[in-house]
Amino acid sequence: MKLIYMDNNATSCIAPQVFEAMKPFLRDEYGNPSSMHNFGGKIRKYVDKAREEVADLLGANDPQEIIFTSCGTESDNTAIISTLRSYPEKKHIITTKVEHPAVLNLCKYLEKTGYRVTYLEVDNEGMLDLNELRMAIDHDTAIVSIMYANNETGVIFPVEEIAEIARVREVIFHTDAVQAVGKIPFKLTELPIDILALSGHKLHASKGIGALYVRKGTKFSPFIIGGHQEDSRRGGTENVASIVGLGEACRLARESTEKESVRVKKMRDKLEKGILKKIPDVKINGHTERRLPNTSNISFEFIEGESILLMLDEKGIAVSSGSACTSGSLSPSHVLRAMGVPFTYVQGSIRFSLSRYNTEEEVDQIIKELPPIVERLRKISPFGMQETPKK
Ligand code: PLP
Repeated sequence: MKLIYMDNNATSCIAPQVFEAMKPFLRDEYGNPSSMHNFGGKIRKYVDKAREEVADLLGANDPQEIIFTSCGTESDNTAIISTLRSYPEKKHIITTKVEHPAVLNLCKYLEKTGYRVTYLEVDNEGMLDLNELRMAIDHDTAIVSIMYANNETGVIFPVEEIAEIARVREVIFHTDAVQAVGKIPFKLTELPIDILALSGHKLHASKGIGALYVRKGTKFSPFIIGGHQEDSRRGGTENVASIVGLGEACRLARESTEKESVRVKKMRDKLEKGILKKIPDVKINGHTERRLPNTSNISFEFIEGESILLMLDEKGIAVSSGSACTSGSLSPSHVLRAMGVPFTYVQGSIRFSLSRYNTEEEVDQIIKELPPIVERLRKISPFGMQETPKK
């Protein structure tokens, strides 16, 4: 049975070119880039080259604005903690109700240590009210931390406007761009974002590597305190192979994102159209236009997303119910709840997240396999016997 992998927002395969680029640094070229001798020291230039590639993809002015980290979570934590340490007199954070736990759970923790957090609401399309943001900023606000694109629904926030609001009010703006980088093109030269987080394994690099963009002139205080690596901004010997791989993944993304995102969107739209045509009582969650091209969050009323997931899994189709990071808890998605999606739909939500490695044939296969699965589950569902509740 051939695997159909449509869970790319959870993690993505390592691109063949990325794997090839990493290989020498996993075996022969194992030197420490901080070493004085040539065997280690020569590795430095590969790390620097990767830094340039990341900066190029983001449209950053200077590669020195990039700090390598271990993952998206570390990058997000660094952005927020660093800013709070840099502005110790300020005790207010603004974020949204639909952030990834990498931001949300940190904010909940910070609330217990004396910080005040405003969690902005979203509407039923998953969008923010920017006036609410304007009103939330006060003299005590240290940071606005709002994601670029949502991992569950793919909804893209208007980061350009958000960044401008924060800039005018002289508040640091951090965006968790873990799901946006490599999926949609953007240029930091045109966006007044102060700090941006990304993660390698979401864009066909390896797990265990992330990066943080910190605009020149932004106050920064290291989160991981140790050696002088990363210009004393992040202690710890560099994960050279993964850094080189991330550089290559960024180079590939820079070359292909514009073109590939159109192809991926076409497949995603075909999938949605096919499902809507063949299955009744289905709802696409999130803004129809302002969405990542690869993501589709679909609710099937009266049944449980986990049951669909398991039955698709038996057919070799890998998708996700809600966020992979929260699955296992079976608690309904905080994102869909914040959007006011009716309960009978929240429970039955599935996320398809495509990549450039998916094919139209795979989309056709899912459109064929899914309807009988949903029909079978609805027949045995205790909710299915009831009348459709008023929405
Ligand atoms: N932020 C978002 C929006 C994510 O989707 C994820 C992972 O799913 C993260 C942060 C965390 O990234 P990582 O798994 O690299 O720690």
